[in-house]
Amino acid sequence: MSGKLNFDAAVLGGGASGTCLCWYLMKAGMRVALVNKQSDETTSTLKAALINPVSAKQLNLNWEAEKSLDEFIRLIKESNADECMLNQNGILRPITDQHLYDSVQNNLKGHTWPDNWFSKVGKEDLKNRIPELCQNYGGLEILVGSTLKPAPFLAHLQQQLVSNGMRIFESNDYRIEKQKNSAVIYLEDDQKIRCDRLVFATGSHLTQSPLWSSLPIYKIKGQTAEFTVSEPITWKQPIIGDGYIIPLNPTTLMLGGTHGLHFNDAEPDQQASTKLYEKFQTMLPELAEHAQLKSQWAGIGVTTPNRLPFIGDHPRNKCYYIFGGLGPKGLLLAPYTAKLAAGNIANKYPLPDELNAERHWSKLRRLGKI
Ligand SMILES: Cc1cc2nc3c(=O)[nH]c(=O)nc-3n(C[C@H](O)[C@H](O)[C@H](O)COP(=O)(O)OP(=O)(O)OC[C@H]3O[C@@H](n4cnc5c(N)ncnc54)[C@H](O)[C@@H]3O)c2cc1C
Repeated sequence: MSGKLNFDAAVLGGGASGTCLCWYLMKAGMRVALVNKQSDETTSTLKAALINPVSAKQLNLNWEAEKSLDEFIRLIKESNADECMLNQNGILRPITDQHLYDSVQNNLKGHTWPDNWFSKVGKEDLKNRIPELCQNYGGLEILVGSTLKPAPFLAHLQQQLVSNGMRIFESNDYRIEKQKNSAVIYLEDDQKIRCDRLVFATGSHLTQSPLWSSLPIYKIKGQTAEFTVSEPITWKQPIIGDGYIIPLNPTTLMLGGTHGLHFNDAEPDQQASTKLYEKFQTMLPELAEHAQLKSQWAGIGVTTPNRLPFIGDHPRNKCYYIFGGLGPKGLLLAPYTAKLAAGNIANKYPLPDELNAERHWSKLRRLGKI
């Protein structure tokens, strides 16, 4: 067997959670290895994602919306990842019926919003910006929203991490051995990695790991579809409503997303493309009429009861650690939550209760299950 490689932390999984965690562990001065295994269930490979700190339906702020957004923007700047942003010019939220109009007015009054996050857009203005838009009552522009190309972004972060000394191992078959205060990963090519902390950031695969399977992390299948339109569009801003529409270029629109808890495989299916086309028809009826389905994408993500990730060590094996369950806004959440996770791993900084895996371990302890 070839020599043993020593690291302070090894991170399993090179999606949004694992890659961002590596970034902050390296910043904390740790020697880090990233071990990734290919999977057809990964969600971080979707073509485009919204970085949107506001819930589209109720117009509420998401959990720690300002901190998540600030950290996301800081990471984009710090890593010079600007070219991975498809659009930084906000997101449009048309208001399409009287009921929604009333509830938006109420919600806007009922919250203290951060300065300059919104502007109102009149009916005429909206129609000028998006001539093909369905009937509407005007709308809102979420000025701080943006659109990210996740795969190039994560590849860019990984490239930077490697140039700063991080090691990446692609391995489709490895074995983990627990030692007294460390873990050893035996890779398929006979390399051996020893680490003080082993972090599981493997997305939906966490549900298959005996270490973490008692945590309430549920798989959820999400799908998007790309449609080509016959006439090039003149606008670039994404639209949210019942789902979202992201212009990838003047003739290709990405529709998202469907989400389902019951499924048999990770393949895109016709039920989802039909549902996405219906959303397209509702929001942009003229364009949808002559549009063609170009391609479809499916990923298996995860969700948790409070829709926030689980972060923390394992109750019996203190060198094992979890960072997972990022959910449907995981790309927005990844930098801020990874920073908190890294602070806890590297410096034992406390975690917010709502993220700490202890929120579930304590219940199991009370029931005598651990
Ligand atoms: C349809 C859809 C639309 C979405 N839209 C948005 C959006 O607009 N905005 C937003 O913020 N978020 C969005 N999300 C959510 C976001 O994509 C996810 O929260 C995020 O990508 C999760 O990243 P992750 O690293 O936790 O998991 P994954 O992306 O699943 O990454 C897990 C990684 O671990 C690897 N792996 C698996 N098993 C192992 C193993 N045993 N050992 C080592 N490596 C392993 C996999 O290959 C993969 O690289 C969307 C999700 C879906 C499904």
